[in-house]
This record gives sequence, structure tokens and C-alpha cells, in this order.
Amino acid sequence: SNTEDLFGVEESLKELTQLADTAGLMVVGSTYQKLVSPNSRTYIGSGKVAEIKSAINALGVETVIFDDELSAGQLRNLEKAFGGEVRVCDRTALILDIFNQRAATHEAALQVALAQMEYQLPRLTKMWTHLERQAGGKVKGMGEKQIEVDKRILRTQIGVLKKELESVRKHRKQYRNQRLSVPVPVVSLVGYTNAGKSTLLNQLTGANVLAEDRLFATLDPTTRRVQTKNGKEFLLTDTVGFIQKLPTTVVAAFRATLEEISESSLLVHVVDISHPLAEQQIDAVDKVLSELDVSSIPRLMVWNKVDKVGNPESIKLEAEKRDDVVCISALSGEGVNEFCNAVQEKLKDSMVWVEALIP
Ligand code: GDP
Repeated sequence: SNTEDLFGVEESLKELTQLADTAGLMVVGSTYQKLVSPNSRTYIGSGKVAEIKSAINALGVETVIFDDELSAGQLRNLEKAFGGEVRVCDRTALILDIFNQRAATHEAALQVALAQMEYQLPRLTKMWTHLERQAGGKVKGMGEKQIEVDKRILRTQIGVLKKELESVRKHRKQYRNQRLSVPVPVVSLVGYTNAGKSTLLNQLTGANVLAEDRLFATLDPTTRRVQTKNGKEFLLTDTVGFIQKLPTTVVAAFRATLEEISESSLLVHVVDISHPLAEQQIDAVDKVLSELDVSSIPRLMVWNKVDKVGNPESIKLEAEKRDDVVCISALSGEGVNEFCNAVQEKLKDSMVWVEALIP
């Protein structure tokens, strides 16, 4: 990486490793290089290329993933430099792979397909250069023409997908409006990936939502009905986790989730308080939320995984001092009743608003 971002290179690579793991790949090693500016041909310098190449040979590596987005030319040059057998991809392609594996609803599948096509469009040259090489350069002109044809086909497909998405969204909105006319408030869980959102959902509802130590365990908005001890109820919606350096090309794939958030009665921000970068993660989530139309929605913050911190008492004391913070362990269930009470307290105002929708 050539940039020193908020989280630092190593933290970013750690997340990339988790992403690769989520995608079903086995990570055998990682490395980085600091350059004043990236090499225009190969992104990394020639010495680093050689170093990675020998690691590829020694370890039998099949895929090399770059943490930053690569151009079509860089992808091609790197594949050539690594020996042709190796697949080279970047963070964006990896995230899209994961989305593709996890897309459970029709809308999510459409959004992922769209993002993948838009990602492919400027990178189409790659396939045809391979073919040209195979044919000993005989199809050179043909390759160029074919790229244009393929781009046109891809653009048409993108247009069709966009229309279909629009229609799916309209139907979902109708469904949501129906749901909102029931006097049950909607509570949305937001937060960094791996914060423990689906674990909390499970703890509260016994719903069988996938919870595992992997990124994107919950791509699609998942809603469950929660009944509290005093007979009150609310709908709890899980959303896909935030990640750092979310490529702009995949932001659209989050839209369904984000739209859902803007119609909730309460936002619950789940934080993994045991994470060394909890503070930065809170800021990153707040920043994204501030860009959405959700400023009028009440919020509650949950410091999760208190069972995992070294100093639980001081963390709990700190939480008590603050307004709007509840300490829990979604895993053990500690603090979950207090969480429900806090949700109820917060919902008092918005109940009026939801009930007002009933004719
Ligand atoms: P999500 O991505 O926010 O939905 O996070 P998950 O619910 O999938 O949780 C991510 C990982 O953290 C899983 O391995 C959970 O078992 C673990 N986890 C969640 N909550 C807690 C907690 O309160 N304490 C501990 N120790 N681990 C937790």
C-alpha cells in the first residue's frame, strides 16, 4: 500500500486475510511495500514482484490478492510476471466474490451481478490479450473489435439489470409500507463487521441466523420479531457489517440495507469493545451513518463482548457514565435484559409515530 490510512497497512491486511478466509481461500502469507507512488505497470516494484514470484513457486500459491484496486494493465502485467498460472485479483474483486457467494435474495443477487459487470467493464481487455497471445498475434485486430462488441453487450446487460433492480425495489417498498402499518417498531442493528450483530439477534430471538467468525455472515437484511419479558415486542433487523476501505464500486450493493436503516424507529450501533481499534471503528460507522438520511432516528450504542475485555469493570463503569451506552455479552447473554429495557425506553417516542400510521 502507498497510503497510510486510518487503520494502518497491517490492520488492513489483517482484514483482507479475514475476507479471503470468508471467500474460502487459505492464506499462506502476506507482505507489503511502501512506495512514494505505485508502479504504473505492476503496482509494486520489480524486487517485490520477484520476491512474490519465488514465494508462489515455493508455496504453490494459486491466487495473489492486492489490497488496493489494480488497473486492467497492472492485473495483466502482474499475471504475466507471476507466470500465467496464478490468478491475480484485488480487494474489490474479492469482496464481490464474497457478495456473490452470500447473496440470498433476488435483489442482493441482482445488485452483486450489477457491481460485478461494472467492475469488469474497464477490465475487458484482459481476456482478449490472452487469446491474442495464444493465436500468435494473428487475431490482433479481431481482438480489438471483439472487445468493443463485448463492452456493448455488457453495457446492454447492465441496463437490463438496472431496470430489473428498480422494479424489485419498488415491490420491496410496498412490502415495507405494509409492514410499517403494524404498530411494531423496527430496530436496526448496525455496526462493524464481526461486532456480534447476528449473535445478538440469535441471543434475543433464537432465530437461526448464520453467526460465524467470518466477514459478511449476514449480507441480506434479516428481520426477526423480538418479544421482551414484559410482553412488548419489536422487529429487529440485522444489516451487513461495515468494512474499512469499502470500494466505491460495491457501495451500491449495500443500498438495500441502507434504505432499510432509514425507515427504522431506532438504530442500535453494536461495537466490539474488545477490539483494539474499537474507537476508530465507531468513528467509521458514525461517518457512514452521517452520510445517510438517518440523523432524526434515535440511537443506542451497545458495547459488546465485555466477556472478552481484560478490564470489564472499568469498561462497565465508563458505559454507566455515558448516556445511550449498554454493555453486553451477546455470547453469554449478560446484559441482554438491560439492553431490551434500554430499547424499550428509547422506543417510547417513536411508538407514537409508528402507531400514527394506522388508519
Ligand atoms: P456480525 O458480523 O456483527 O454479525 O458478528 P457475529 O455475530 O457473526 O460475531 C462475530 C464473532 O464474534 C463470532 O465468532 C461470535 O461468536 C463472536 N462474538 C459475538 N458476540 C460475542 C461476545 O459477546 N463475546 C465473545 N467473546 N464473542 C462474541
